[in-house]
Amino acid sequence: MPPTVVLLGPPGSGKGTQAEQLRELGFATLSTGDLLRAAREANTELGRRAAEYMDRGDLVPDELIDAMLAEELEGRDDEAVLLDGFPRTVAQADALNDVLGELGRELDHAVLVEVPDDVVAERIGNRGQGRADDDPETVRERLRVYHEQTEPLVEYYEDRGLLRRVDGEGDVDSVQSAIRAAIE
Ligand code: ADP
Repeated sequence: MPPTVVLLGPPGSGKGTQAEQLRELGFATLSTGDLLRAAREANTELGRRAAEYMDRGDLVPDELIDAMLAEELEGRDDEAVLLDGFPRTVAQADALNDVLGELGRELDHAVLVEVPDDVVAERIGNRGQGRADDDPETVRERLRVYHEQTEPLVEYYEDRGLLRRVDGEGDVDSVQSAIRAAIE
């Protein structure tokens, strides 16, 4: 089976940008944030249910996300897959293991893009791309949720020997090189 890689890191750590560039290596990149925003745009049932959580900076319930991911992973047996923004809870990580197992895949690497909170807040404050959840109060909530619900995955993947730490504070190209070196 082709490789499966997870990108972990706080909001504003640049995961999306890095994931985009990793497509060059042949990865199909699945970003849960992008998928959810597309679902909202298309006004699907999922999009409507996800909206209230996203606007508060909270996580969309696991069952909605797990179903969305399982659907996206189907039919990709020949593709290397990179997950951006999933899993975000230990329950999602367990669900991912199950889905991958059913598909005959397994996770190869969990790459943690490390960026301190003050840098995150500054970056998001500067990007001004008008995402509704980028106002300072919602960013604080997203960071709080990250530390509380997503950070336990660092230990989770460390225990399984899958964690690769990358310094996310450098420029885009050096972070990209570090990620490529980590998953080589
Ligand atoms: P960021 O990483 O900058 O917070 P994303 O685009 O990855 O932004 O996610 C935006 C929002 O989408 C999150 O704040 C959350 O509400 C929702 N979301 C994305 N991925 C997940 C997930 N795996 N589980 C639950 N909610 C999610």
